[in-house]
Parts: sequence; C-alpha cells; structure tokens
Amino acid sequence: MSGKGARTVAEGVLGSVPASRHATLSDFRDRDGALIDRGIALFFPAPHSYTGEDVLELQGHGGPVVMRQLVRRCVELGARIAEPGEFTRRAFLNGQMDLAQAESVADLIDASSTEAARSAARSLAGEFSRRVHSIGAELTELRMHVEACIDFPEEEIDPADRREQAERLARVREKLAAVLADAEQGVVLREGLTVVLVGRPNVGKSSLLNRLSGEELAIVTPIAGTTRDYVRATVSIEGVPIHLIDTAGLREAADEIERIGIERTWRAIEAAGAAIFISEASAPEDEEERLLRARLPASMPVAHVVNKIDLTGEAPGSSSEEGEASIRLSARTGAGVEALRAWLLRVAGWKPHGEGLFMARERHLRALEEACDHLRAAASLQAYELIAEELRLGHASLGAITGEVSADDLLGAIFSRFCIGK
Ligand code: GDP
Repeated sequence: MSGKGARTVAEGVLGSVPASRHATLSDFRDRDGALIDRGIALFFPAPHSYTGEDVLELQGHGGPVVMRQLVRRCVELGARIAEPGEFTRRAFLNGQMDLAQAESVADLIDASSTEAARSAARSLAGEFSRRVHSIGAELTELRMHVEACIDFPEEEIDPADRREQAERLARVREKLAAVLADAEQGVVLREGLTVVLVGRPNVGKSSLLNRLSGEELAIVTPIAGTTRDYVRATVSIEGVPIHLIDTAGLREAADEIERIGIERTWRAIEAAGAAIFISEASAPEDEEERLLRARLPASMPVAHVVNKIDLTGEAPGSSSEEGEASIRLSARTGAGVEALRAWLLRVAGWKPHGEGLFMARERHLRALEEACDHLRAAASLQAYELIAEELRLGHASLGAITGEVSADDLLGAIFSRFCIGK
C-alpha cells in the first residue's frame, strides 16, 4: 500500500504502525479482531520508499482466500486496488525515477531473455537516462551561446565563435547518433522478430525450435483468449526474442469459430517480419507452400530450410538470391543451424555489440530521431533565431524520453500497459 492512508491501514490491521524499515512479525487481524494471517510487516515512511510516499508491505502466506480477506480488510480501512502501473507511476510523479526508468520496470518484468533483463536493469539504474541527460546538458550550453548571439548584428559576431558553435553542434550530433544506434539495438532486444513457420507435420519444426533456442528453453505460449488462437513460441537467440507463429491448423475450418481463428492467424502472418519454409531433404516442393508464399507480402524476407540432411548426406550450407535464403541443415545433428540463427539475427537487425546495451522502446527511437532531425536542420541554417529554435525543438524531443516534457495522455499510455499494481 502506498499513500497517506498507509498508516491508518497499519493501525487497523496490525494494531500499530510497525517500526520504520524493520521486518516485524505481526498478526493481521480483521474488523472483529479475528486472525487473518500471521506474517511480516514492513513500513517505509515517505520519502524513502519506492513511490516516495508512505508504503506498507504485508507479507503473508499467500493463497487466494487469505489474500482476499486481507485485501478486503485494507479496503475497509480506506485503501483501494491499485491501477496497472500505479506504484511506478507514483514513483515517477514523486520524482523517484524518470520516465525512461519507469518504463524499464515493465521491461524488466516482461523480459524474455537474460540479455533483455540485463539491459532493462541497466536502464532502470539510469544508464540510458544519463546518456540522454549528458547530451541535454551539452545542448543547453550550446543553446546559451546561440541565444546570446541573437541580439547582435551578424557582422559583430566573431567568426571564431561561429566556428566553435558549429564544432559543438557536430559533437552533440555525433553523441546523439551513437545513442540512437544503441537504442535501435535495445528495441530489437525488446521487441525481437516475429517469424512465420511453415511446414508440413513431421518435417521437424519442433526439433528445429529446440535447436534454435539453444540453452534457453523454448516457451510455448498460447495467446490469451480462446485456445483456438494461433500458437506462438518464443525462442531466444543471443538474447533476441524470436516469436514463431505456427501455421499448422490453417488448412481446414470446421466451423465459424475456427474460421475466425484462422483469419486471426492470417493477420498475424501478414504482419510478421520474416518467414521460414521448412521441408525435408528428400521431399519435393509442396503445393501448399506455394499457395502460402503467394499470400505473404512480397517484401517479407524468406528462408527456405531443407531439414534432415543427415539422412541424405548433403552438405550443410546456405545460399541466397533475391532476398530469399536457402539453408540446408539437420535439426538432429545441429549441422547448418548456425546459418539459420545468423539469418534470423540479420533480419531482426541485430548487430554484435559490446557490453552496456540498454533497453529502449519505439517511443524512444522516435524521440531520438526527431532530435537528430532538428539538430541536422540547425546545422544547415545561418540565422541565429532559426538555429536557436531548432535547438530548442531538439532539446524538447530529448526531454520527452525522460519525461521532463510529457503530456498526460502519454503517461496514461505508458503506465496502463503495466501489469496490475506494479
Ligand atoms: P514437426 O511435426 O514438424 O514439429 O516435426 P518434429 O520436430 O516432431 O519431427 C518429426 C520427426 O522427424 C521426429 O521423429 C524427429 O526426431 C525427426 N527429425 C526432426 N529433425 C530431424 C533431422 O534433422 N534428421 C532426422 N534424421 N530426423 C529428424
């Protein structure tokens, strides 16, 4: 619980407010004094808490019935159920973290690979924000210089000053470009690549999935909703999540519900980033495969995988022409699988990198690109008023990343995607 009423709830449930920042073994009691559970109570007085407000944590034994009783008791005492992301939203509004850090809390929770989790943790610790801030600080310096020149006639300005400003601007643009490049990789790590997997039963799709995922287990996640929805499996390649959509079940629609499911699968397929067609080394090309190919967007990168080469003795390898790759491999022995991994990473836009990647979102990319555009415009202008304006706009774009300038609806959009209460 977070907020002014946390003390009242503590008094009601525990009998008194527990000592600050101490784990206190306590009885949790209902209105009549009957015992609900016995557990640990923690009280964090403002401002030294996650949200910056008074925070009360009750750690019980769990279980839905006890949990519900305890929640009901707290609500009776004036608490209410938190909205999605509300704790982090309050932390942001109370200045405990900036917007990029708040977003990384959700990314940390949702991380689908160790690398993604590490990057989110780095963002949470403020690495991304620090880089954005440092560019912002240099921009402030530059803007001060430029704005100071606005009031002077052109001929009174020392050409050396102009040169220095141009150099400063070039430096800021360079740093911005470097952050943008890292952020692009951060987005790949967060969003990954969605791939359509096409192949008849028994060509070795599951075997290939397991091969691709390497150390990390393939997670099969039926999308929430009906069980008839398409199945997605996520494998992680060098930390980049690759979401695979299985096209099995696209064939026959027995009834209306199944037909809707199939339509949904088609929409997912058409929005995917790439497709893999799997066939067996010994089998000829499939008619169904040709039909599917015809319906995929022409621009979609496609890999033709020929599996089970261990049975025919063909050599593993890959070739590509006109954007279509052909890869011979064996899911059983692993021969040639490396080429498919490399292809997937290339299509995802992944570049090998050093340590220190941070998590980023499309929103951050857009803001960084906007900032780049304004600074490019500034570099091409002569009049100080116009340069100053472009620099101001670029600065504002940067500010949107950490939330120094942000509209309320933007906040709503960000925090509503959190899971309940985080
Ligand atoms: P799926 O129905 O497409 O998912 O196919 P599975 O992955 O279940 O594989 C079907 C059968 O083919 C299984 O018996 C696998 O062991 C076998 N299989 C898969 N890949 C290979 C391979 O590369 N070589 C050989 N020899 N058998 C394979």
